[in-house]
Amino acid sequence: MNSNQHPQDIQGVSLLSLADQYELPLYVYDGEKIVNQIHAMQEAFASVPLKIKYATKALPNISVLKLVRNAGAGIDAVSIEEVRLGMLAGYEASEIMYTPSGVSWKEIEEAVDLGVMVNLDSIPLIREFGEKYGNRVPACIRINPHIMAGGNSKISVGHKHSKFGISIEQIDQIVQTVEKYQLSIAGLHVHTGSDILDAEVFLRGAKVLFDAAKHFKELKFIDCGGGFKVAYKAGDPFTDIQEVGRIVSKAFLEFCEDYGRPLELWLEPGKFLVSESGYFLAKTNLVKETPTVTFVGVDSGLNHLIRPMMYDAYHDVYNLSNPNGPERTYHIVGYICETDTLAADRKLSEVRAGDVLVLKNAGAYGFSMASNYNSRLRPAEVLIWKGQAHLIRKREEFEDLVRHQVQIEL
Ligand SMILES: *Cc1c(COP(=O)(O)O)cnc(C)c1O
Repeated sequence: MNSNQHPQDIQGVSLLSLADQYELPLYVYDGEKIVNQIHAMQEAFASVPLKIKYATKALPNISVLKLVRNAGAGIDAVSIEEVRLGMLAGYEASEIMYTPSGVSWKEIEEAVDLGVMVNLDSIPLIREFGEKYGNRVPACIRINPHIMAGGNSKISVGHKHSKFGISIEQIDQIVQTVEKYQLSIAGLHVHTGSDILDAEVFLRGAKVLFDAAKHFKELKFIDCGGGFKVAYKAGDPFTDIQEVGRIVSKAFLEFCEDYGRPLELWLEPGKFLVSESGYFLAKTNLVKETPTVTFVGVDSGLNHLIRPMMYDAYHDVYNLSNPNGPERTYHIVGYICETDTLAADRKLSEVRAGDVLVLKNAGAYGFSMASNYNSRLRPAEVLIWKGQAHLIRKREEFEDLVRHQVQIEL
């Protein structure tokens, strides 16, 4: 097997040594890959004033947020807690975009008090925002462009029946409400979904905004969201960021000509920046042969990596402990009392109890979606940066499970 595809080390740090040092299961991130992805995006859009707003929810570790900030990107936050994490990581409020979906009014007020840009995603919210702040606080509007795209129905969020954003068909009502309260609209936003391959889809989303922009005279930016597809295995198609950059930049510059002023172009990549940086390491508890399949049971499950069950996501798997063994076909399953197949029908070099398996593309929506289901503890996270391993989150302990429980006398 190609060692680039199945690395034994990250920046010279042996993954097996990390397994020994930090115990398993373990999330490991390659900081260099994250920074390289940011640079690739910056280069692809070099002809326009680009602002990257990293989608924090993909991997919200504070040390990762710092790394992203040092590489010149801001963040997109979908909860007030993510806004706060960003601020802890050193982001100025002005570098943070807050894109909530149906949150309480209290959270909107908190965001305004902190000074972050709020992305309004319903007409009632525009109204409420107008009543309270009038033209004193600039805001952004999230448009639903009615585009069906993305890798899975749960991650297609820009189609007509999606809860997200305000339908482009309601543009007249948006404009009326904005005018009524004399709101200062600084940006328009779309986010069409995740795992979008085709550059044309990004262009279509952008064009919906370019067209809507004529109704708003005070714009400072157009935000085209995230959703860029990455490769999950060798030979997989992925978004050609150079092509998206070329096509969207050209259309954007033409739009700015028409609009009469240069605006900023914002993007909100999550997966694109962090997916491939992540490796999830888990130990094999048992190899179980049945009349039909051979199961590899790992010391983890959907509590630590839910994407395969939630989205039918594909994670490439390899056997770190036995890279040159004969290949066999396995189902890799977890220990949760519920079906939690992490990977089905995979050819791996022979797996023995105790072997360490690596699941790739675990950087985005891996740890951030982990839970304590089955009263299991969440794993540690390690960031490899400049050839050194840094523990960036400790493994949970039993005490963490009971800390907030209140035992009553019965
Ligand atoms: C989740 C999300 C993103 C990032 O999506 P990816 O598929 O990870 O790129 C961007 N913008 C918003 C508003 C989101 O909710």
